[in-house]
Amino acid sequence: MSSIARLLASVPTRLWIDGADTDPVDGGHFSVVNPATGAVVAEVADARGKDALLALDAACRVQDEWAATAPRERSRILRRAWELVVERTEDLALLMTVEMGKTLAESRGEVAYGAEFLRWFSEEAVRIGGRYTEAPSGNGRILVTKAPVGPCLAITPWNFPLAMGTRKIGPALAAGCTMIVKPAEDTPLTMLLLAEILAEAGLPAGVLSVLPTSDAASVTEPLLADPRLRKVTFTGSTRVGKLLIEQSAQQVLRTSMELGGNAPFIVFDDADVDGAVTGAMAAKMRNGGEACTAANRILVHNAVREEFTAKLTERIAALRVGPGYEDGTELGPLINDRQRGAVAALVADAVDAGARVRTGGHVVDGPGYFFEPTVLDEVPAGARIVREEIFGPVAAITGFDTEAEAIAAANDTEYGLAAYFYTRDLDRAMRVAAALESGMVGVNRGVISDPAAPFGGVKQSGLGSEGGTEGIDEYLSTKYIALPA
Ligand code: ADP
Repeated sequence: MSSIARLLASVPTRLWIDGADTDPVDGGHFSVVNPATGAVVAEVADARGKDALLALDAACRVQDEWAATAPRERSRILRRAWELVVERTEDLALLMTVEMGKTLAESRGEVAYGAEFLRWFSEEAVRIGGRYTEAPSGNGRILVTKAPVGPCLAITPWNFPLAMGTRKIGPALAAGCTMIVKPAEDTPLTMLLLAEILAEAGLPAGVLSVLPTSDAASVTEPLLADPRLRKVTFTGSTRVGKLLIEQSAQQVLRTSMELGGNAPFIVFDDADVDGAVTGAMAAKMRNGGEACTAANRILVHNAVREEFTAKLTERIAALRVGPGYEDGTELGPLINDRQRGAVAALVADAVDAGARVRTGGHVVDGPGYFFEPTVLDEVPAGARIVREEIFGPVAAITGFDTEAEAIAAANDTEYGLAAYFYTRDLDRAMRVAAALESGMVGVNRGVISDPAAPFGGVKQSGLGSEGGTEGIDEYLSTKYIALPA
């Protein structure tokens, strides 16, 4: 038996409700596919609204008790979960590679990154503070306390099957909230295994439930309409995020939204070009380009554009494409055929509009959902690829001549998640970082995510922050207690 078959035979595939593996009320299941082959790798329980309400019943039953648990105890459970996740690195990494497609090296990186949210928030659980002050008028005192917001719903995407979960679960549990997670349909297995690990770490039954489903709305709509739910936290497309914000209005829910991006990656003429090429490889090709922080528009000063483009093309053309679990693979498949078709359509549109293909540009024939690593140069401003999130291994390069032109182009989008730029000039670095309409800015770096930093966007990229000392605030409500002088 191969290591993949052995792992798949041992991972949980049923719903996780109230601390137990559970069959759905309606008894349905759906298939999980390996994107490197197109083959079905598991049949997973398919939740519906009735299952969701059972999970909410359990969450509500234990909410007060969990909120009253000593912060040190919540911290201990999260810390233990971090240890267990790290111990299970190889299983979690292989599982992610099999259901999502990224290379094993990247999956191992995600386990380390995803686990870190559990450790970080184990440390934050014991530092939830408030404030005290005297009223300026002298006739009262002001005490501000923090309380968990209550039962939360987390809806997570397929591109980081572990980390997008722990980034929500870590702070929710640390704050004393219960949580129901609806993982993405393409990648439910990683989250089910995580639930089992959290239980092993000592998380009481009911505090966390995981509901895989092939019909997201059938699970999320009854929860969002239920007055017992107090918050929804979502990572995914801006389209679905807007829908969830609308639905959240019914019960005036707290919302955290990590939505789409259209990150500019700017290379100024005073940049270290080799450093910028290395940064662009990371910002573009990490996770196969399937990241909301991925460099979507590479804007390069015309004085260095040919040098940068030639060097980047050489690196991208040399990437070894294949199943993520095979030795030597540097770029895995896309998540599914629909996503690959969307990437191919963006490339075709850009080429029609006048972009030049420097390497790649095509779907790879054969099984699995592979797309050639691609570099497009001279991409015109009118091409769809400039406006829309690519979510694939395609670098789209456009030239510019002045700093003002680069900033205007960078900000010419309804998104505002991540932005990157390369310069050796400190004054320019401070000026450009301030001018970019973006929740996160990487200066001379191609990777910005860090569990200790607040991740989040402005404009239509989202609401709120995840990670950092800010991340736990999303799960706390503020109470002001007025005291006499
Ligand atoms: P993508 O297009 O990259 O899959 P989505 O925003 O569609 O991004 O998916 C992100 C998450 O949102 C997934 O867990 C998905 O199942 C969920 N989702 C999609 N549509 C809805 C919906 N109408 N209501 C609630 N959740 C949804």
